[in-house]
Amino acid sequence: MREPIIAANWKMYKTVGEAVNFVRGFTGLVAGVTGVEMALCPPFTALAAVAEQLAGTNIALGAQNMYWADEGAFTGEIAPGMLKEIGCRYVILGHSERRQYFGETDETVNKKVHAALKYGLKPIVCVGERLEERESGTTESVVRSQVEGSLAGLTVEQAAGLVVAYEPVWAIGTGRTASAEDAQQVNAFIRGLLRDMFGDAAAEAVRIQYGGSVKPGNTARLMAQPDIDGALVGGAGLQADSFAEIVKNSL
Ligand code: PEP
Repeated sequence: MREPIIAANWKMYKTVGEAVNFVRGFTGLVAGVTGVEMALCPPFTALAAVAEQLAGTNIALGAQNMYWADEGAFTGEIAPGMLKEIGCRYVILGHSERRQYFGETDETVNKKVHAALKYGLKPIVCVGERLEERESGTTESVVRSQVEGSLAGLTVEQAAGLVVAYEPVWAIGTGRTASAEDAQQVNAFIRGLLRDMFGDAAAEAVRIQYGGSVKPGNTARLMAQPDIDGALVGGAGLQADSFAEIVKNSL
């Protein structure tokens, strides 16, 4: 049985004060919730304050990006060891906004995945097709090359600990959610790719989230699908009450 993981990606939202307020409200709303892993991924500037607030809770901390080098002259970048030290368990890698606006490729995502694992961080690796790719029927080939490229060279043990987020780009921040059946179909396809790359046991262990306009009202239907093991939540993860509802509706 895979424990689902519901993660909030706050993107470039929330000051330190706003982040702390969120956590104070959220921890009360989900006190006693078990059977689902929760993670908050604030911007870098709020990581330390959120880590402090999460101490002693069962809510994990994640970052939204990192660079792959151990350290060095890379102005503006953050190293994996820095995230580990501050208390991150997860790091989102290859989000479509990083691919679209910051030139991330499967090759750079792959370097980051290897670096994260080296430092004991669990990557949440994002893949997903754009609208024109879905409409032209190339969803599977796009997702295949993202999965194969981003996860190249991992050992079976490393692969088994991954989280993969299937996020169709046309569903992110648009209010347009993939149907539960369409999301399940791609998530099952991804699991098949993982099986080909890493074998049955690892493929069965990987948690594959869905992301794209997840809200309290559509969570249960998505989560009822056999290959959807959680959600990566943007907009609805910015308010403590709606994110807590998503967590509860995932059970
Ligand atoms: C995301 O940013 O990963 C995301 C899925 O955003 P939203 O939930 O707002 O569509």
